[in-house]
Amino acid sequence: MRRSRELKEMLENSLDAGATSIAVLAKGGGLKLLQIQDTGHGIMRDDFGRVCERFATSKLREYEDLQQIETFGFRGEALASISHVAHVTITSMTDGSPCAYRACFAEGHLVSAKPGEAAEPKPCAGTRGTTIVVEDMFYNAPTRRSAMKSVAEEYGKLLQVVQAYAIDNAGVAISCSKGTECGAELRTLREHSTTDVIRQVFGASLARELLPVEGAEPSVGLTVRGLVSNASHSAKKLAFLLFINKRLVESSSLRRAVEEAYAACLPKGGHPFVYLSLRLPPTALDVNVHPTKREVFFLEQETVVAAVQTMLRELLAGANGARTFLAQA
Ligand code: ADP
Ligand code: MG
Repeated sequence: MRRSRELKEMLENSLDAGATSIAVLAKGGGLKLLQIQDTGHGIMRDDFGRVCERFATSKLREYEDLQQIETFGFRGEALASISHVAHVTITSMTDGSPCAYRACFAEGHLVSAKPGEAAEPKPCAGTRGTTIVVEDMFYNAPTRRSAMKSVAEEYGKLLQVVQAYAIDNAGVAISCSKGTECGAELRTLREHSTTDVIRQVFGASLARELLPVEGAEPSVGLTVRGLVSNASHSAKKLAFLLFINKRLVESSSLRRAVEEAYAACLPKGGHPFVYLSLRLPPTALDVNVHPTKREVFFLEQETVVAAVQTMLRELLAGANGARTFLAQA
């Protein structure tokens, strides 16, 4: 799904910039207007010209960084590709700058905001951080536009992405709104715990049935954290939120392994809630995979998948054991 991918990249940029607060506004399912406002370190005036250029990234200065880089989104393609399908306006202010700067972008380049004006960042009032406004997405690709589902459905997908990032980033205040009078559909506070955010998104009854996951598989440099439902929670569909090195990804092999781990303890047709945040050395990830593709592959796929499955099995067995013991006492 296209627009949620663009949103995901922009959220990752805000988080990479150390934002403590991120507000998403999506009008018309995000087609009409998609705005991401953050309190991160901002973009310096002299860097404005580069941010929408292909392969321009401030995060990978040298090849050696590949070994250390924590992220997938290091190829500097996100903003460049967005500026080819939409009108982009960026307002940003860094620490120590007397004012903010605003500039418009198209086709990977700075453009003038009005005919006759110079194509350069203009000083304006602002606060520390960055606001990116993406308007009229796919204005130049009508077939793509008409392939979109209903506005409500499109917004629903965007909201799901923001909710997922809010869960993985408890401690950052994140909101998502479609700009109607009903207020925001998601609003987390900096003091909210991961469980608080899950409660807000998935409801109190699930939040009561969560088990913390914490484990590691040193042989491949894997650490795992997360919150998963216990045997008393059974849903019609699997809710699987998977983050690897802070990026929301999909892994069909992990998905299968998770379902298998729960098969023994859930009623037939029942599915768990599983939120997992994995850390792996970048060398253990298949870096040849296109960074914007969500399906991820591990070099030690079997070891990683088996380790996660064992952690879940042991956790569930332990939790069930405790339950039986209590019942007998
Ligand atoms: P990448 O994240 O791979 O570096 P992007 O195209 O996503 O590439 O962004 C290009 C550059 O623009 C980033 O390297 C960063 O310097 C800057 N940038 C983008 N969004 C933000 C933001 N919200 N806050 C600060 N800098 C940003
Ligand atoms: Mg990026």
